[in-house]
Amino acid sequence: MATSVESPLEHAPPPAVRRTRRGLTAAAALAVLVAIGAAALLDLRTPAPVDTDAPAGQFSAGRAAEHVEVVAARTHVAGSPANEQVRAYLEGTLRDLGLSTEVQDTVAEEAGQLSGAAGGATLARVRNVVARIPGTDPTGRVFLVAHYDSVQSGPGGNDDAVGTSAILEVARALSTGPRPRNDIVFVLTDAEEACLCGASAFASSHPLAADGGVVLNLEARGSTGPVIMFETSPDNAGLVGVFGRAAPHAVGTSFAVEVYRLLPNDTDFTAFLDHGFTGLNSAYLDGGAIYHTPLDTPAHVDRGSLQQHGDNALALAREFGATDLADLRAGNDATYFPVPGTLVRYPGWLTWPLALLAVVAVGLLGWSTRRRGHASWSRISAGFGLALLPIVIAPVLAQLLWLAITTIRPGYAELLDPYRPLWYRLAVLALAAAVLLGWYALLRRRIGAAALAVGGLGWLAVLGVLLAVLTPGGAYLATLPALAGAAGGLVALAVRPSSRWAVVAVTAGAAVGVLILLPTVMLLFPALGMGMGGVAALFAVLLGLGALPVLDLIHPALPAQPPGAAPPGAAPPGTAPPGTAPPGTAPPGTSPSGAEPTGTEPAVPGGTPSVRRGAAVPALAAALAALVLAGIGLAVDRFDAEHPVPTHLMYALDTNTGTARWLSHETDPQPWTARYVDAPESTGSDFPGLGDDDMLAGPAQAAPLPAPALTVLADQTDGDRRTLRLRLTPQRQVRLATLHVAASTATVVRATVAGRDVPVAAVTDGEPWSFGLVFHAPPTDGIEIELVLSPRGGPVSLRAMDASDDLSGLPGFQPRPADVGVVGSHTSEMLAVAHTYSY
Ligand SMILES: [Zn+2]
Repeated sequence: MATSVESPLEHAPPPAVRRTRRGLTAAAALAVLVAIGAAALLDLRTPAPVDTDAPAGQFSAGRAAEHVEVVAARTHVAGSPANEQVRAYLEGTLRDLGLSTEVQDTVAEEAGQLSGAAGGATLARVRNVVARIPGTDPTGRVFLVAHYDSVQSGPGGNDDAVGTSAILEVARALSTGPRPRNDIVFVLTDAEEACLCGASAFASSHPLAADGGVVLNLEARGSTGPVIMFETSPDNAGLVGVFGRAAPHAVGTSFAVEVYRLLPNDTDFTAFLDHGFTGLNSAYLDGGAIYHTPLDTPAHVDRGSLQQHGDNALALAREFGATDLADLRAGNDATYFPVPGTLVRYPGWLTWPLALLAVVAVGLLGWSTRRRGHASWSRISAGFGLALLPIVIAPVLAQLLWLAITTIRPGYAELLDPYRPLWYRLAVLALAAAVLLGWYALLRRRIGAAALAVGGLGWLAVLGVLLAVLTPGGAYLATLPALAGAAGGLVALAVRPSSRWAVVAVTAGAAVGVLILLPTVMLLFPALGMGMGGVAALFAVLLGLGALPVLDLIHPALPAQPPGAAPPGAAPPGTAPPGTAPPGTAPPGTSPSGAEPTGTEPAVPGGTPSVRRGAAVPALAAALAALVLAGIGLAVDRFDAEHPVPTHLMYALDTNTGTARWLSHETDPQPWTARYVDAPESTGSDFPGLGDDDMLAGPAQAAPLPAPALTVLADQTDGDRRTLRLRLTPQRQVRLATLHVAASTATVVRATVAGRDVPVAAVTDGEPWSFGLVFHAPPTDGIEIELVLSPRGGPVSLRAMDASDDLSGLPGFQPRPADVGVVGSHTSEMLAVAHTYSY
């Protein structure tokens, strides 16, 4: 506590000097926060790619990229001849390394719920490539997993030729060194895009999978950016410990799992988790515009991301390969997040104590603030209540901004993220800043800087508790900034509030928020896309609320209060008389508790009117920046040949009626698509294999294409049960075949597909189909299906469909101009042919 006998009032410097000093303090404090934020963001950069001449024991993105060129030379969807060539290349490459290599060739059922809308069972014929380095004294197995198939709408350069190629390069590096203690198994799966069926086949039935083990899954959902370890098995403390210790570029947060659950994506990792494996799932996400599109070529692979994937996978394979895997069974989930140079991690049981400690710390700060006469309880309560405004308004405005931008440029609606999202992301940040600063400028005189600062931290503490309940892995995002902000505030109140140590204390408190929340904000943008930019805006506001005492410095000092304005029991003399706080104290520019916000304030030089005007400047500047940045985004990110506007089109032919139609999932169709489709139509009854969403449809010429054949191999009736043994045989090269039983003609009691019993879901009344089957990558000689039916009397109606993926030969199809592209989706360019058989 300062014991100066001088009253600061007597020696107050002239206003110009005070303004300069406040300006310098503001600049210094903000520079510290900017530097810390920059360090946090620079830490997320990908490593420099290592060239092909790197030492044999190292991972080289250059060497891995040579594999990417082969794997992603063309589209290679599961079951296609192109995928067969990729499989042969992988097998040959692993054999050439001297590894025992085999192909698991089987039929497997779907993992997860990817195509549940198709109804009933989803299966695929898969061919996984499996190779192994046997351990010297194994305590278990480590599996490096990536899928080698691509979607039907692109060559899969990033997704997942990168993961596949990284594993080939890791296998090479490992096979040059000493044998590991544990078995290392390389699993290059098939049919991930279709149904996770390759991973499901391996995890459920491969002999090497029988005892489980640690899975490292390598994925991509974009083309660039840091590789994020975004998903783990439950009770991950041991695994995360190894990850933080061994991965050279460990980027991951326990919050990511929660974000990932919001997304419609799924990976092979799900299939392994379903079968009791443990492990880590990693992917890079930025550059999502080309995800699943024809642009996902080797040329669009960021070799820095590839290097990071490989560096981490190689180091983790070595570390897990040497660890006693039994030791990894920790009984809890860790909280973890990146800070420059390391991955902070602490046990999950600390989540609740920390969250409650933050509440107590902020409460203590409020109490101390009041006691020292910086704010009354009523103002602190008002500050807390009003701090909810920016938390709500900023995300809503961010969503509205994106709505406005997509109205101007409707093509964005079909993209995960714009091609060049940077300007839009900055616009959202500027908008969040404008909301926060505008709110602050309006209220700081009325409520007081101290009350608003305490109120902002109060919300951080409350959100920390909420997150501890809802998503414990994300609680640190609010809890730690609240704790640090409260600690900084308490120190600032304890030292002479007019001293520069007070500024240091509140800046240090805010810095923790910047360190934790800025990387989160910047990773949320690519993870969720601009369509959910409001989430990033929310966390940006939280960051700002934790930094209010520092942000106050960029506002003009509030006018001094007359000494008599302080209520009885307020600050003792000599400890920062209210309103005299010189530049940068915490809380700066505070109104005394109980004082009327206006009227009692004397017209000190530099006083009220200019304070009012000056306070609005930062908010207006941020609002202007948001508009300018959004405008730059619209100007820079135009659709052109390299960045084509996405369109969705497919074709469906009914060979019973000889009619065909074009179909599109676009809601607001692009001009190119609008030439084919015009009116919404429900296709579920004619093409159950396409799902039951409404689509836009338009008439098409019927192409001379054969429907899949459905032949009866055996037909037996036993009482009220009829057993039909059928063979469904596509008559052309297709990606998938489906079979549906009309509910009006029979219900299905039991179903066997390719020798496997598949689940038969109970049907509710009114549903058109009593059973549905989707079979990906069907063998050319067809699929054998046995159905035990309960017929309704009369013949059983069966709808058979198959689908290939190229529209270019169809009558009436006109190729897209260069600046019109294909949406990344599992139905883009699909060509379906269906026929109803009655037996
Ligand atoms: Zn994919």
